[in-house]
Amino acid sequence: MSMSQTITQPKTVSILGMEITGPLIIAGPCSAETEEQVLSTAKQIASLRKAHIFRAGIWKPRTRPGSFEGAGSVGLEWLKKVKAETGLLTTVEIANVKHVSEALIYGVDVLWIGARTTVNPFSMQEIAESLQGVNIPVLVKNPINADLDLWIGAIERLQKAGITKLAAVHRGFSSYDKSQYRNKPMWEIPIELKRRMPNIPIICDPSHISGNKDLLLSISQTAMDLDYQGLMIETHCNPSSALSDAKQQITPAELGKLLSQIIIRTSSTEDKIFLSTLEDLRDKIDELDNNLITMLGTRMEMARAIGACKKQNGVTILQNSRWNEIVQERTKQGMKKQLTADFMMKLFEIIHQESIHHQKQVMQDGKEK
Ligand code: PEP
Ligand code: MN
Repeated sequence: MSMSQTITQPKTVSILGMEITGPLIIAGPCSAETEEQVLSTAKQIASLRKAHIFRAGIWKPRTRPGSFEGAGSVGLEWLKKVKAETGLLTTVEIANVKHVSEALIYGVDVLWIGARTTVNPFSMQEIAESLQGVNIPVLVKNPINADLDLWIGAIERLQKAGITKLAAVHRGFSSYDKSQYRNKPMWEIPIELKRRMPNIPIICDPSHISGNKDLLLSISQTAMDLDYQGLMIETHCNPSSALSDAKQQITPAELGKLLSQIIIRTSSTEDKIFLSTLEDLRDKIDELDNNLITMLGTRMEMARAIGACKKQNGVTILQNSRWNEIVQERTKQGMKKQLTADFMMKLFEIIHQESIHHQKQVMQDGKEK
């Protein structure tokens, strides 16, 4: 296959104990509101023949009191009907032991742990213990804050309770500063999760990352290009009247369109030309990385020499004007090479921090690490 072609690949995904022609698609409203809304949404989603699991929140964790807090247990009856009438599997968010037992009584197929529960080890432990001996599939959303260990810890607690059908759901991370996202994706965190837990499939929830409809396609496409195994997309028969997360929900028809626009690429191929081109390019990258490391080593030697000089002259390590000049100049230089200002800032913050560390060692005769 030539590298300029783009094709959509059928992809076999093994997830939550199922073998599917992926990606796994989970769709449904943020909240179950009425029986009609749930069944109408589910039937329209099922008729697309693209989704595997129907989602709907029954107990809604709301940031402020007074918002719609979910239909409660009656919604479990509606989900039972969804399964009977459409054949779709069902999933609900559970946040405590009572939710777990009710969901199990009503035969919910998959449980999901919300971001506000993953964050709490006490809740996770109680939920995990209540699931001992029940090998139901469980989805674990990332915690609201950017803490990979909490996410991993929640998954490990379930694993220790004997849950084997697990998947992580990436829904982005909350932050105080304004951004184009409702929850920043911080892709490096799920990428590191995948490196540390290679057997846990990852599903992207672009709805809670974007907080609106406009970014859904590009976030979903990024997730597929990072080899995620599925998508969870909030879908409502009448989004503008939704009682929660109205801005980010799409209609089943819009879901169908979105899914048909996503390009699914394969994670590996046997194509000889592709493999040899990739090998050549990777050899060059290896050489460049080698050079980078050598240069960084030399740069730190210079930092140590400067440290010795400053020590002799009783001068502080940090000189704000010099640091400011580096930030401004390197950002400009980087942008000429198509590197973003954000990347240059992050890169030089790390380099500068390491330089300070080396200078500190010289100044304090290696006493402080
Ligand atoms: C939801 O999926 O509607 C939800 C409450 O998600 P999160 O836990 O990611 O905020
Ligand atoms: Mn929601």
